[in-house]
Amino acid sequence: CVAVVSAMSGVTNLLIEAANRAAGGDKRPGTAVLEALRKQHEEALASLARDDKARKSVVEELEIVLAEGNRLYEGTALLRELTPRTLDAISSLGERLSAPLVAAALRELGVQSEAVNATRVIVTDAFHGGAEPLMVRTREACEARLRPLLEKGIVPVVTGFLGATTEGILTTLGRGGSDYSATILGAALGADEVIIWTDVDGVLTADPRLVPDARTIPAISYREAAELAFFGAKVLHPKTLNPVMQAAIPVWIRNSFAPERPGTLITRA
Ligand code: ASP
Ligand code: MG
Repeated sequence: CVAVVSAMSGVTNLLIEAANRAAGGDKRPGTAVLEALRKQHEEALASLARDDKARKSVVEELEIVLAEGNRLYEGTALLRELTPRTLDAISSLGERLSAPLVAAALRELGVQSEAVNATRVIVTDAFHGGAEPLMVRTREACEARLRPLLEKGIVPVVTGFLGATTEGILTTLGRGGSDYSATILGAALGADEVIIWTDVDGVLTADPRLVPDARTIPAISYREAAELAFFGAKVLHPKTLNPVMQAAIPVWIRNSFAPERPGTLITRA
């Protein structure tokens, strides 16, 4: 099992807003966002891991990410320039904060686990803000860095949404791209299935906020699901199914708030 995590709710938006303010010359909103994120993640950590030593090592990991965030906001404010490359580095900080937390939570439950930065496993082109995976290179990187962990029974917790170019420059896959990260890794590792844990019961017949009696679709084809995503169904990032379609790897959409419900199964048929 490989886990792929997104940032906590709303975090990516906050990071991006502060980046735009930094581009106007003001680094303070960035500093404030990072302080708030430190508090939020340390509080979550306190409820996820009880052991002091375990907590300390995660806090150290969070510190490194937050310090990098501070330097990025400072540099942006100094130059009054926000390049797509810098924006990627800033907007992906949320995933880099959440992965160590989830890995710690798994260890607390007695599951061996390790946070993995996707810069080491998803190789992309250099199209910042909407990068595409280079699958041959990604497969090699997954075999080198994830397979050995899996063989030792360790659950890698990989940062969603981001990757890196062959030169090691961080990229992002586009907003909502953590689903896409999961199917990229699923395809690269030849997974039996990919499960996307979200906040609705699956692919619905309509937007439940507009149509209260919208129903969950039990099973749907890749093509029809991709069409729904293309026409704006928020449940799937439009590119999510591309990596798994050819290998016919089934994708489940399931509700993390109601894990007992079956969800939607997406397959070739
Ligand atoms: N955290 C990223 C975003 O908000 C990726 C994701 O949520 O899937 O776009
Ligand atoms: Mg998100």
